[in-house]
Amino acid sequence: MSNNEVNESDCCGNGCSNCILDNKPKPSQRALLAGRPNVILNYAKFKLLSNEPCNGDQQVRCLHFVYAESEDKTEQAGILDIPPGHHVMLRMDQQASPLLRPYSPYWTDFASKEFKLLVKLQPGGAMSAQLSGLQLEQVLQFRGPIGNYMHDASSAKNIFIIAQGVAIAPTMPLVAQVLDNEDDMSRVRHLICAKDLKHVYLRDQLLEFGKYWNYSSCLYLSQQQTELTSSLRYKESAHLGRLNIKDLAAQAPKGIEDAKIIVIIAGYANFQRDMREQALQALPVAAANIFAL
Ligand SMILES: Cc1cc2nc3c(=O)[nH]c(=O)nc-3n(C[C@H](O)[C@H](O)[C@H](O)COP(=O)(O)OP(=O)(O)OC[C@H]3O[C@@H](n4cnc5c(N)ncnc54)[C@H](O)[C@@H]3O)c2cc1C
Repeated sequence: MSNNEVNESDCCGNGCSNCILDNKPKPSQRALLAGRPNVILNYAKFKLLSNEPCNGDQQVRCLHFVYAESEDKTEQAGILDIPPGHHVMLRMDQQASPLLRPYSPYWTDFASKEFKLLVKLQPGGAMSAQLSGLQLEQVLQFRGPIGNYMHDASSAKNIFIIAQGVAIAPTMPLVAQVLDNEDDMSRVRHLICAKDLKHVYLRDQLLEFGKYWNYSSCLYLSQQQTELTSSLRYKESAHLGRLNIKDLAAQAPKGIEDAKIIVIIAGYANFQRDMREQALQALPVAAANIFAL
């Protein structure tokens, strides 16, 4: 594949925990095993297949993309590998410097080279303005995968995944990779923080996860105004209020106490910082085993 260099101008400047400058897109183990190139390692074109509002909110969009086939025969035979918890960079060319923003797929298909994003359009945001006018079949440029978290399925772990708002997106493939592997004895506790039930995204998938023995979830709703119990679905559990140290400590593992604890945090930088501090106080977790996406 052509020029795979990363330089200063490839950084979006948003201060991502996993900046592209420190996490250069590189061939994954999976791509190497398949013996086929990962089409997204350098900027590649992806066509918009669908653009739907999420939870009826026009400002939160589920965007579905497919690789727009290249003339290059090697790339045609390629695969799309975006490992769980990794993000991609969207580039929009403008007159001055290109506009760059990171987004985290909540679903990817290796063979058909498709992925889905959950995007919250920010009022006054530069990329949001571009994305709000997206047309079906429009072609955008993405590059990745960017990130450094890798799950090790060789020994059972207690995995705490803490997500805020739309940042639930990158946590979905992380959960799926544990549950889809029958040999993986790890347990996942998915703690989902949102303003209210209407702002809990991908609920149907969460309920599907709930069918597995090694998955449990809890919603923490900081501003829920209406009565909750009747709105919850079968096996859904929720707390009114923000997730705090006491709640986290109450989730401390019982059953496989010896298993290593991993904490993964997805959300804004201040949320990542607060949750990291709380996790260190509430759980017997080593600082090196706390990962921010
Ligand atoms: C690793 C990573 C993954 C991400 N994944 C996702 C994802 O999957 N989905 C998602 O929706 N987002 C995701 N984001 C956030 C995303 O990258 C963008 O930051 C987001 O879409 C807003 O971009 P924007 O260009 O529209 O807004 P920006 O132009 O960056 O502005 C953001 C906000 O700041 C305000 N603002 C801008 N300029 C000023 C100013 N001068 N003064 C005051 N306020 C100002 C804007 O009004 C807007 O509300 C991710 C971020 C990171 C770091």
